[in-house]
Amino acid sequence: MPPWFRNFIQLSSTSLAQQRSPHLKPSPSIYQLWNHFSTDSKYAGLRPTKGDEKPRVVVLGSGWAGCRLLKDIDTKLYDVVCVSPRNHMVFTPLLASTCVGTLEFRSVAEPIGRIQPAISREPNSYFFLANCTSVDFHNHQIHCETVTEGVDTLDPWNFKISYDKLVIAAGAQASTFGIKGVHLVRGIVKDVQPKKIVLSDDTDIPYGLLVWSTGVGPSSFVNSLEVPKAPGGRVGIDEWLRVPSVQDVFAIGDCSGFLESTGKPVLPALAQVAERQGKYLAKLLNNLGKAGGGRADASKELDFGNPFVYKHMGSMATIGRYKALVDLRKSKVIYICDY
Ligand SMILES: Cc1cc2nc3c(=O)[nH]c(=O)nc-3n(C[C@H](O)[C@H](O)[C@H](O)COP(=O)(O)OP(=O)(O)OC[C@H]3O[C@@H](n4cnc5c(N)ncnc54)[C@H](O)[C@@H]3O)c2cc1C
Repeated sequence: MPPWFRNFIQLSSTSLAQQRSPHLKPSPSIYQLWNHFSTDSKYAGLRPTKGDEKPRVVVLGSGWAGCRLLKDIDTKLYDVVCVSPRNHMVFTPLLASTCVGTLEFRSVAEPIGRIQPAISREPNSYFFLANCTSVDFHNHQIHCETVTEGVDTLDPWNFKISYDKLVIAAGAQASTFGIKGVHLVRGIVKDVQPKKIVLSDDTDIPYGLLVWSTGVGPSSFVNSLEVPKAPGGRVGIDEWLRVPSVQDVFAIGDCSGFLESTGKPVLPALAQVAERQGKYLAKLLNNLGKAGGGRADASKELDFGNPFVYKHMGSMATIGRYKALVDLRKSKVIYICDY
C-alpha cells in the first residue's frame, strides 16, 4: 500500500475519530477499500460496478437531504458511497442554541456512520471526506478532491468515483454578491472591512457587531454543473427530482429547484423540504432497484411512480424561555406554546 493512500485513509479516519489518537492505524475496512480502489495514475478511484456487485448510489453531501436519503436507502439493493467535506450531519435549527450554551455541540451533530451503518460495515460502501469538484455525466463519473484543512502534512489528492445513480445533495451557500472579506450583500453595501462597512457612495459605517443575513444561493460547485438550471441558479429538476437532461442523476435539497417547464415553484431552502425530498427519493430508488433498474442506464423504461408533492407541515419559531410560536397551517391563527 503506497504512503499517499495510507495518508488519505488516515486523513478520513482522523477526522472521523475527531482526532482522538495521533497514531491511528488503518482498520481492516481500509484494506477492503484498497482492494476495490484502483490506484493507477489514469484512474485512481472506484471503477464502474460489475455484474456480480450491487449497483452503486453515490450521494454528494451529508446534510438534511443526503442523510435522509442515506438513512432510508435499501443497502441490500445498493452499495452506498457518500462524498462530503463533513463527516456528520448538523441539526441546523438547533445550532443557535449551541452558541448560547443551551445545548452542547454534540447534541446537534450525528456521525454519518450512525445514520447509515452500512458505510462502516459493508465491503463496498464508503464515506469519503472530500469535495466533489466536477461531474462527468456522460461517463457516469464524479471527480473529487480530498479535504485537507487543518492537516499541514498532506496535499489534496484527486480521485474519481463511478456511479450507477448519482444524488446531488450539496446544499447552498451564503450569498456574497462578490464582496471580499465577508460573505455578503448587494445594493448599498460595497465592502465589509474590520470594524466598518463601506457603502456605494463611499460612506463608512462603523460597527461593533455585524449581523449578516443575506440568504443563500447556489454554491460554486452547483454553478459549475453544466445542466439546465431552475430560477435562482439551482440544479433544475423535474417532478421525480431527476435532472432530466442527463441519465441517472437526481438533485435534492437546497441545491435543487423545479425547472420552469414543470410549472411548479422553486421550493424554499428549508430542512423540511430537504428531508422530505431525501425520504421520497430513497423510496423511489428502492423501487427502481427492486424492479431491476438500479444499474446505470437500466431505468429508462421503468415507471418512476407518483411524482414528489411537497406539503408544508407548518413552522415553529422559538422565542426564548422554552416558548415558541407555532404556525400549524390549519388556520391563520399562530399559537404560542411551551416546548
Ligand atoms: C444556522 C441555520 C439554521 C437553520 N434553521 C432552520 C430551521 O429552523 N428550519 C428549517 O427548515 N431550515 C433551517 N435552516 C435551513 C436548513 O438547514 C437547510 O434548508 C437544509 O440544511 C438543506 O439541506 P441540504 O441537505 O440541501 O443542504 P445542507 O444541509 O447544507 O447539506 C449540504 C451538504 O453538502 C456538502 N457539500 C457541499 N459542497 C459539496 C461538494 N462539492 N461535494 C460534496 N459535498 C458537498 C456539505 O458539506 C453538506 O454536508 C437553517 C440553516 C442554517 C445554516
